[in-house]
Amino acid sequence: MFPGNDFHLASYFAAFLISFTCILYTFLQRRTDKPQNRLYITMLIIVTFNAISGMATVVAEPFLATSSIARLVTNLGDFTYFLFHSALCPAFFLYVSCVCGAAEKYGNKETLLYGFVFYVTEIMVLFNPLFHWVYYYDDNYAFTRNWGENGIYLAAVLYFMFAMARLLFSWKAVNTKRRFALLYFFIIVVAGVLLQFIDMNIKGELFAEALSLMGVMLAVEAEDDLVDVDTGFYNRKALRMDANSYIVNKTKFEIICIKVTNADVIQKLTGSANVNILAQVLSDYLKTIVPRYYIYQTNPETFVLTLMENNLEGGKQVATRISERFDKPWDCGMADVMLNAVVMDVKVPEELTNTVDLFYMADSVVPDGHSKKVLTGEDLDYILRRGEIENAIARGLDEDGFEVYYQPTYHLDGLKLHGAEALIRLNDSIMGRLFPDEFIPVAEQAGMIDAIDEFVLMQVCDFLESGIPKQYGMDCINVNLSVIQCLQPGFVDRICKIVDGYDIEKSWINFEITESVAASDYEILSGVVKDLKSRGFRFAMDDYGTGYSNMQSIFAIDFDVVKIDKSILWGAEETELGRIILGNSVRMIDQMHRQILVEGVETKEQVEMLRELCVDYLQGYYFSKPIPKNEFIEYIQAKAG
Ligand code: C2E
Ligand code: CA
Ligand code: CA
Repeated sequence: MFPGNDFHLASYFAAFLISFTCILYTFLQRRTDKPQNRLYITMLIIVTFNAISGMATVVAEPFLATSSIARLVTNLGDFTYFLFHSALCPAFFLYVSCVCGAAEKYGNKETLLYGFVFYVTEIMVLFNPLFHWVYYYDDNYAFTRNWGENGIYLAAVLYFMFAMARLLFSWKAVNTKRRFALLYFFIIVVAGVLLQFIDMNIKGELFAEALSLMGVMLAVEAEDDLVDVDTGFYNRKALRMDANSYIVNKTKFEIICIKVTNADVIQKLTGSANVNILAQVLSDYLKTIVPRYYIYQTNPETFVLTLMENNLEGGKQVATRISERFDKPWDCGMADVMLNAVVMDVKVPEELTNTVDLFYMADSVVPDGHSKKVLTGEDLDYILRRGEIENAIARGLDEDGFEVYYQPTYHLDGLKLHGAEALIRLNDSIMGRLFPDEFIPVAEQAGMIDAIDEFVLMQVCDFLESGIPKQYGMDCINVNLSVIQCLQPGFVDRICKIVDGYDIEKSWINFEITESVAASDYEILSGVVKDLKSRGFRFAMDDYGTGYSNMQSIFAIDFDVVKIDKSILWGAEETELGRIILGNSVRMIDQMHRQILVEGVETKEQVEMLRELCVDYLQGYYFSKPIPKNEFIEYIQAKAG
């Protein structure tokens, strides 16, 4: 009634095939350098070897009475089986610790402590040929268990419980897919081991282990969604997962964040459209600082390193060293390029306690007023302010803290009033007055930008409906839209629904967007613009001349107006090169038949300079700062009167 030899052989063979295939696949994927990967491979090798020795003993069994070779094979097979297999559960415990992000904080003492039981079992197996503590063969060469084998089973149970405790303790550090895979491993292996413990004739243990290791490979080891295929760097998702697991496990570490601030020069100097050049150039260098698996690319221009506690150098030294590397040129193939970078260093958990702040650091622009190249300690207080700002935004939405200001725009021709740009302000009961440069990025991250932009749109519609803007000769009011919001499904309908509620013409509203989207979202954006334009709205490209904007998108997206950023205007006053850039920008945009607005006009000289260049509209403090609606009405009345 018990399964016979053929069954055992098939079961071992299946275990062998599965685990060996997983080894091959893991090596093919080159997932071999992380400590976690190595433990995984160790477990697979244990199962593979055990399956081989299992097969050998099954084959030898019928000949035990007659052949001394068969006896030797059986002896060796059983011996290696116990020797290796006792290591499986301890390895699994370490593996789970790695997956949970808890392994990084182990020192030698912990390893010795956790390893103690394992060493005892290994010694029992090693001395078994002399003392037969674990097993022996009776007079009929039948395998017979001794008390030591129960001890080994108990040790396995102990390590399993350790692993289980680790997983439960770090529950929040592990995503659902991984939790499920690890739990599945527990259940299947425990079932296999229990069956074999109850009746040693059921040799299902190895097969169960091989099968669950395969499950682990698919759910835990597979990293397709965590690694950028082109650059090989870990992505945002990987950083979120890893940082979260370190934080949940109270592992101390430091984060080094490298923001390259002039990455666009690579494209300009090399003429290459390959957006990954930056990552390729930096990757070789960064790998000399920390192993590959501690490097992440969170944005095209932002790289994050995690430094674990056992790193010999402190974060500050590493940050300084990286920053100094930027004093030398980088070999970008076609040209040597000087890159500028800001390097930040923060300690977790002392200076930063959660991944929201971490991504704020990676995503937000370093505020003005930081001339240092390495930012540490107090330099990074603005990141801590983020949480307070998020609260202020929520309060502002609740308590009517937001207010729309208007800044007039003028025709260059005759300096006649043309329209206005609506700009949001936040008056917070606790933090005081806040400016959009600071709170808009937070609102975007926290998913509150829709509410703000819709509030502005409604205020503007209300103002337009009052008839006052038209009465004083204004053509339109400009409303800023966050690109993140434009890409949301149903965006066009939401906008139209709001505007249709007012008795106004859509052409009175001119939306401004900064074209800062990834290429993949580009088509969606251009579709949204087309759709809104077909309904009558106007569109302006904002911030032309800063990092992202490019000529092609002006052409591909049907903008009515291109707004040249104030930095380009101001640069034109400083250097000859700046002058050339402004002049050529104006000429090119003009040739594309788009109207041109220049913002940041502060002086009469600037007005005259722009007059020579023949732009269409002007905006800036020369005319007026952004002012509250009532003041703005008084302002245009005074101008008219
Ligand atoms: P922007 O769209 O480039 O807006 C122009 C910014 O330049 C405004 O700053 C304006 O006050 C400032 N400015 C205008 N003329 C001059 C000048 O002559 N000299 C100087 N020094 N500055 C001038 P503000 O109001 O702080 O807005 C900053 C940014 O916040 C805006 O940049 C825009 O991107 C964003 N923003 C403002 N309101 C909204 C909104 O309602 N929704 C969204 N999504 N973003 C908004
Ligand atoms: Ca704007
Ligand atoms: Ca601007």
